[in-house]
Amino acid sequence: MESQIHSLHQQLVKKEISCVDLVKGKLALLKSNTHNTVNSLLENTALELATKVDKKIASGETIGLLEGIPFGIKDVYMVEGTYTTASSDLLKNYKSAYTATAIQKLLDAGAIPLVKENCDSFGHGSSSENTIFGAVKNAHNPELVGGGSSGGSAVNVAKDFTIFSIGGDTGGSVRQPAGYNAIYGLKPTYGRISRYGLMAYASSTDCVGPIAKSIEDIRIVLNTMSGKDVKDQTSYASAEIEAPSILNADNIKTIGYFKNFIESEAIDETIKNDFLSTIEKIKAKGIKVKALDFFKSDTLVSTYYTLAMAETASNLSRLDGTNYGDRIEADNLKESYSVTRSEKFSEETKRRIVGGNQVLSQGFSDAIYLKGLALRDQISQNFENDFNEVDIIISPVTPSVPPKIGDSLKDPLAMYLSDAYTVGFSLGQLPTLTVPQGTETGLQITAAKDNDELVLKFANFLKDTI
Ligand code: GLN
Repeated sequence: MESQIHSLHQQLVKKEISCVDLVKGKLALLKSNTHNTVNSLLENTALELATKVDKKIASGETIGLLEGIPFGIKDVYMVEGTYTTASSDLLKNYKSAYTATAIQKLLDAGAIPLVKENCDSFGHGSSSENTIFGAVKNAHNPELVGGGSSGGSAVNVAKDFTIFSIGGDTGGSVRQPAGYNAIYGLKPTYGRISRYGLMAYASSTDCVGPIAKSIEDIRIVLNTMSGKDVKDQTSYASAEIEAPSILNADNIKTIGYFKNFIESEAIDETIKNDFLSTIEKIKAKGIKVKALDFFKSDTLVSTYYTLAMAETASNLSRLDGTNYGDRIEADNLKESYSVTRSEKFSEETKRRIVGGNQVLSQGFSDAIYLKGLALRDQISQNFENDFNEVDIIISPVTPSVPPKIGDSLKDPLAMYLSDAYTVGFSLGQLPTLTVPQGTETGLQITAAKDNDELVLKFANFLKDTI
């Protein structure tokens, strides 16, 4: 699909549509939708902002490319004065006191936020069923899950309820729902976009990620949100990605894929065959393809969940009903913490807090947490070696097709294993994009750190190749 941002911008400038009508139309779609994508609507602000854009256009002022473009926000981002619930019971009445840097940059560029979007509570999940707002239904088949944790964001984009949405990706939460709903979703290089104001899940892999229907729209939104931020010490300054530079992929000579991902018993036969025929099409274009060795999926999943659980246990320790969220009073302070956290966190979140505290506890942390960190270093080293040999790594997004609603809740371990192909790139902090091609749940394109531009280039190449 061509860029919706460019085409809407033209229509606004030429006065073929009004911004108020555009925003009203999208709000109506969001309101009447039956996919459970909406946690709260930002109706009044959106209409006020749209009126301002129309006035500017009427008075002959120039408007920026993102000005008046409606978008959605996963409900884990702070936006001052709005409910930021993380789809959790504990924070269902919590209102943000400030605005996340990434979102502020979009607001400064004039984009119009419409909706806080449903997701797995605190980003814990792969299906967007771990939420108090009802399971998100897949855009193409409502009996299937929307994917997670940024399920509401992906479904909104796929159904054209928003032009783009901002998800969050810790271990695949932008890439997997993008794959399940056949759209684009980018996890940029860790640190390229500030995490300030994104509710922390696992701080060492949390990334802000755009979801859209075209590569060009991903590029525009990525550029707008990128940059060093004094409020996030892990953020860094990156070069702007120019539109023409991603149209030519001639400098991509060699790509690789992980043999064991494809030879694994867990992979769906059709996904495997489709992936292999994609490889053949790429070879036919004169690109060299190397089969690479990598860690077993089980090792990747265990390493990721060990570290992610440890980090989330630590990050969520601040949620005790005192400073944030609902509080249940009990006989004394300690009891009150305990009852609040027991009653207000979901089963999945509690599983992770208990697991994470076990990983970090005295007597266990050397054997588990430090081992996880050591494995992570080895995984990063493996990637570094690979990128001396290949320019790009491609992989399926998931081993299987989206499950039916209800199935993941019955089997958390199976749900963790479904993250087999996404979590490794998170541990490596590498830029990875899901494209809606190649297999039923898409393909991932990965490059070395800070090479987000190369990822977008290869995506354009694939769009025309397969
Ligand atoms: N499904 C993975 C998890 O539950 C990834 C989630 C995410 O990226 N937020 O940890």
